[in-house]
Amino acid sequence: MSTVLKEVLAANADYAKNFGDKANLPMPPGRSFAILTCMDARLDPAHYAGLAEGDAHVIRNAGGRASDDAIRSLVISYKLLGTREWFVVHHTNCGMETFTDDIMRDLLASSLETATIDASGWHDIGAGPGSTEGHFIDWLTIKDQSVSVTADVQRIRNHPLVPATIPIYGYIYDVKTGKLIEVPEATAAGKA
Ligand SMILES: [Zn+2]
Repeated sequence: MSTVLKEVLAANADYAKNFGDKANLPMPPGRSFAILTCMDARLDPAHYAGLAEGDAHVIRNAGGRASDDAIRSLVISYKLLGTREWFVVHHTNCGMETFTDDIMRDLLASSLETATIDASGWHDIGAGPGSTEGHFIDWLTIKDQSVSVTADVQRIRNHPLVPATIPIYGYIYDVKTGKLIEVPEATAAGKA
């Protein structure tokens, strides 16, 4: 058994021991809101936004982007589970700023092993073969966080399955301070 697998199962055994009242939580989020944010390991929405189990939906992907699948989750979140306010939270020092579609596609085409980054960019150090399947994926990379947050809030706002009554707030999480910084253009675009 891998170290990580052992650690996770031990942590879960402890967690389940003190599960208590959480067994009675209803399915709909108690505080009726959702957060779309990046999968970055340094971000913990439960901590940075003060969530307990049962409070809110947290939808995560690389970059916290408003992909079709993120929108699918948001639509389920309000339509079936009653959320009424949404946050889009990108963050400083996001890995999605370090590459472009072309870079990712080239890396994957040459090797499926983990690449490395240095001052001159990403390089494959692993062996081939790779796969050209990466050419068919829009990697939704980020050049500027304010621009990406605003674009994603706008996309969600303009989506035909999203009602105009849901306010969408745009924020950047600062990985150096833990603070959420509003992107006013995004919040303006997301106004209910
Ligand atoms: Zn990120």
